Amino acid sequence: MKSVFRFGGGTAEGDATQKELLGGKGANLAEMAGIGLAVPPGLTIATSVCAAYYDAGGRLPDDVQAQVLDSLAFIEGVTAKKFGDATNPLLVSVRSGARVSMPGMMDTVLNLGLNDQTVEGLAAASGNARFAWDSYRRFIQMYGDVVLELDHYAFEDALEIAKEDKGVTQDTGLDADDLRKLVARYMAIVEQALGRPFPQDPHEQLWGAIGAVFGSWRSDRARTYRRLNDIPENWGTAVNVQAMVFGNLGDTSATGVAFTRDPSTGEHAWYGEYLINAQGEDVVAGIRTPQYLTKAAREKAGAKAASMEEAMPVVFAELGRTFDLLERHYRDMQDIEFTVEDNRLYILQTRSGKRTAKAALRIAVDMVGEGLITEAEAVKRVDASAMDQLLHPTLDPKAVRDIIARGLPASPGAASGIVVLDSDSAEIRALAGDSVILVRTETSPEDIHGMHAARGILTARGGMTSHAAVVARGMGRPCVSGAGGISIDLVGRTVSTGGRIVKEGDRITIDGATGDVMLGDVPTVEPDLSGDFGILMEWADKHRRLKVRTNAETPEDCRVARQFGAEGIGLCRTEHMFFEPSRITAVRRMILAEDTAGREAALAELLPEQRADFAEIFRVMAGLPVTIRLLDPPLHEFLPHDDEGLADVAAATGLPETLVRRRINELHEFNPMLGHRGCRLGITYPEIYAMQARAIFEAAVKVAQETGAAVVPEVMVPLVATAKELELTKAAIDAEAAAVFAATGTTLDYLVGTMIELPRAALRAGDIAAHAQFFSFGTNDLTQTTLGISRDDSARFMGPYVEKGIYPKDPFVSIDEDGVGELVALAAERGRSVKPDLKLGICGEHGGDPASILFCEGLGLDYVSCSPYRVPIARLAAAQAALKKG
Ligand code: PEP
Ligand code: MG
Repeated sequence: MKSVFRFGGGTAEGDATQKELLGGKGANLAEMAGIGLAVPPGLTIATSVCAAYYDAGGRLPDDVQAQVLDSLAFIEGVTAKKFGDATNPLLVSVRSGARVSMPGMMDTVLNLGLNDQTVEGLAAASGNARFAWDSYRRFIQMYGDVVLELDHYAFEDALEIAKEDKGVTQDTGLDADDLRKLVARYMAIVEQALGRPFPQDPHEQLWGAIGAVFGSWRSDRARTYRRLNDIPENWGTAVNVQAMVFGNLGDTSATGVAFTRDPSTGEHAWYGEYLINAQGEDVVAGIRTPQYLTKAAREKAGAKAASMEEAMPVVFAELGRTFDLLERHYRDMQDIEFTVEDNRLYILQTRSGKRTAKAALRIAVDMVGEGLITEAEAVKRVDASAMDQLLHPTLDPKAVRDIIARGLPASPGAASGIVVLDSDSAEIRALAGDSVILVRTETSPEDIHGMHAARGILTARGGMTSHAAVVARGMGRPCVSGAGGISIDLVGRTVSTGGRIVKEGDRITIDGATGDVMLGDVPTVEPDLSGDFGILMEWADKHRRLKVRTNAETPEDCRVARQFGAEGIGLCRTEHMFFEPSRITAVRRMILAEDTAGREAALAELLPEQRADFAEIFRVMAGLPVTIRLLDPPLHEFLPHDDEGLADVAAATGLPETLVRRRINELHEFNPMLGHRGCRLGITYPEIYAMQARAIFEAAVKVAQETGAAVVPEVMVPLVATAKELELTKAAIDAEAAAVFAATGTTLDYLVGTMIELPRAALRAGDIAAHAQFFSFGTNDLTQTTLGISRDDSARFMGPYVEKGIYPKDPFVSIDEDGVGELVALAAERGRSVKPDLKLGICGEHGGDPASILFCEGLGLDYVSCSPYRVPIARLAAAQAALKKG
């Protein structure tokens, strides 16, 4: 079977469509070679070999080895160099390339093929001994770290000592002789740690590096990244082996990374960093501070070091032409790696650039304006979940700020929290409920879990394309990178900045949009949702079939949701209203009452309050549908659980403490989630639901009379399991409606429906539909009851469950399509078969999850309902779902 594919020299086996086979990097290298760009020749070992490698016990199958050697000969032909040759050696890079990019997850080895002989050949062939020895020491360092798994600090220390001895601060201050000595030191480090010398045979080096790439697919950090990003384990990675070109050949050489548009703001301006006389990893590792690509960017930052536009105008012009060509070719913003070898430009990688939500919006909208993509494509391009970043507050511009440091605005958004100096502590503190700002000198892939747990990330070193910046943008965490003024003392557990000391645990605020770091908490303001956001949402709405409602119970939440485009309320949970201080005593008196008369007296007090609640919501929603759910939780939730609270309740209600205690004991349940709750309350205490129904209808009549607009309340019954429960409850609701209409001389349309949140209800949806005008799938309880997993306790064990692939995602976040989803599908079908015009919606947390929304679109539900801040996400996801389907 063909497993190795070549590219370069004006040809390519494959193209950009073959990401599954060649990985993202391999497919794009083939594509670029195919369209005639200067790509160093190379070979790609297919992703399918990753599994074969593991099956073969961690070695490359023989036939794949043979194909690699065959293609290596092809690379030798194109470059006119020879692998392992003592006079004119071919050097290669070995890199990973999964289907989607996994920043920092997989490892890279450069300059492979160097040994004690070939280094001399390279020195002679290039006429540059310093370059050859610099390349060799880099190779030993990377190979030692990635393949031999030695501690990279040992190498870094040796390099620092060499610089100190010489009295220089930059790597470039070391000459060929210094580097030769450093290589000898590195060799000693390897031999000491390993008990055997550094491998001198280039083929042994090659197989080792290929193995390490495949091996790193299963590293802890790669697994963590995949889990956080829903990337399946079985995809595997490809391996790219490519002829080296050298950015460290002197001052006419350079290396850089660039985005064709600004990845933070989306502005249509080339954006990137480069370093003269350097190799690729120098830019991303944050070891040397990179220089700007364009003159404009340099001037804006007030930097002195020449931009590439100024230092290398001819190559820069060619680079610009390549950027335009690649953008037009891929019709998307590109993230490009390039190297200039002695004034010749090579493109080493291109891929769709990761971007902030803000940039994604702007780029999509701009590209429609530029005629590059259609409106529908723009809608498909913006990751709905990432919109979350835009919908959250930013720092109040008027707030007083005590700025203690400044860095680069690496990932937007503002966050406050306690300073934590390492990732393990960050995770622990976050789990304990603290909001955490992770503060590091620089981050590495080992920090992924800490970055994920943190609200924000602050680093002392590294540019806009450093690990911290790239990963934080991907995760949607605010990040300030390269705050050079701070220094971290890991022993004393403090951060010092400008003569001030911040202790671990002190609170700071970071603003990832400006790069400011402030002491204490700084107030925030709501985001501005006009401009590009509004335009894209309009386009989304044109393509959307599903309606989007919100789960809200306060007038304020209703207002926010309407601003975000909610088309009604899908779930108004009335229990939250019962906790209001003005009425909790009446609620408790109702619960503690020992007979119907006692309950009715207390409920009479609550009636005007509930009526006012509903009237205000009807006013805010101005004619949009409002689904109000009758009381759901078990009554003991409204009672105190300690002696102090008990005494307070006794005093407030005027009841003896003994009675209060007795009632609390009577109401105690072993499994409250499966106990006396939902419509079971309405069946046993009909007066509670009667009061609520009366309040709903009286409020509806009042607001209809006030405004002259139609008010159509939808009364929803929770936790129904049998048709009879709904039949009885509906009869009681209808009786209240009739009584209110008779008393006020007004009638209005209303609906009575039920939640489908128990498996029995889903199975008997046909019978239940006979008494319902709508179903709303309560997928929180339906997931809990179908899986038999408590929604309040699942977090303790769901992590390993998802990691082991038992559930593909947390089923309380994204609907379990095979199980819960099947019940929803079945209930929708059975319900509609009895009542074709039955209105169907979903109001569990899944109503705001893009994958679940896609599932709902597939079932042809009428609407999804989600929390106010997720409404725009749901609108976009609903449009994307419709476009995908249609
Ligand atoms: C549900 O169970 O999905 C639901 C929306 O109701 P609650 O979360 O209030 O139980
Ligand atoms: Mg529920």
